[in-house]
Amino acid sequence: MNEPWVRPTAFAITFAIMFVFESLFPRRIRTENRIARTWNNLLLSFFNTAAFRFIPFLSAVGTANLAESKKLGLFHMWNVPIVLQYVLVVILLDLLIYWQHVAFHRIPILWQIHRVHHADHDLDASSGLRFHPIEIAVSLLIKSLAVLALGASPKSVILFEVILNSCAIFNHSNLKLPQNIDQLLRLLLVTPDMHRVHHSIHRDETRCNYGFNIPWWDRMFHTYKAQPREPHEKMQLGVPEFPDSQQTVSILSMLLIPFKDRPQDDSVAKQNETRIPR
Ligand SMILES: [Zn+2]
Repeated sequence: MNEPWVRPTAFAITFAIMFVFESLFPRRIRTENRIARTWNNLLLSFFNTAAFRFIPFLSAVGTANLAESKKLGLFHMWNVPIVLQYVLVVILLDLLIYWQHVAFHRIPILWQIHRVHHADHDLDASSGLRFHPIEIAVSLLIKSLAVLALGASPKSVILFEVILNSCAIFNHSNLKLPQNIDQLLRLLLVTPDMHRVHHSIHRDETRCNYGFNIPWWDRMFHTYKAQPREPHEKMQLGVPEFPDSQQTVSILSMLLIPFKDRPQDDSVAKQNETRIPR
């Protein structure tokens, strides 16, 4: 498998499909210029991909290659059937990403960085790519350590990365799904309506629905919220500290968000839940 091409190709196909479908069947009316947002979110993603591609231990596939050549990790110690290895890699790495996401919300310094992702006032396929380089670096390091511990094969890691990337694009999209299809998909996948609750401006809703691929973890660890308290069409997205789109759209402003306007503590955020204008 030619890894340098597999992921960009899968990304381009998923992004193009979701871009078209969310244009045809939008869930919410946009509040900002779509082209400017999409362009800046994509630019940030390309920057992150280029910046970390060749740094050792910041590439999960690179680490998987190392584990394979040196026969490191659990799968090299125990004889686990290959199909089971793939299933375990996808499920266990997804569980890890769930807890990492919880940590990015619960630990103040990590939340300061993760706000770049949440400061988006609209939510669409491009939001799934919008992460600060520091968050990407931390995430790649954690993932690489897990890959090393498991001794995951490069192909299984590529599979996980493709699934994660595709699901992130899908569940951030502004796609309106029929209610019954949404309910059915939620048994296996995080849907756009499910993930949108997590992007609410209300702190209590932001601390729900952390899952990216598999929706089971939120149900298992009691962080599942089926619907936002306001209707999807009207609910406000973003973070209270950045109400102005000037502070959130350009790539430079996104890169600076972790160093600006300290996050509100829980008590202030709670007061604002009743004050924020609709
Ligand atoms: Zn989040």
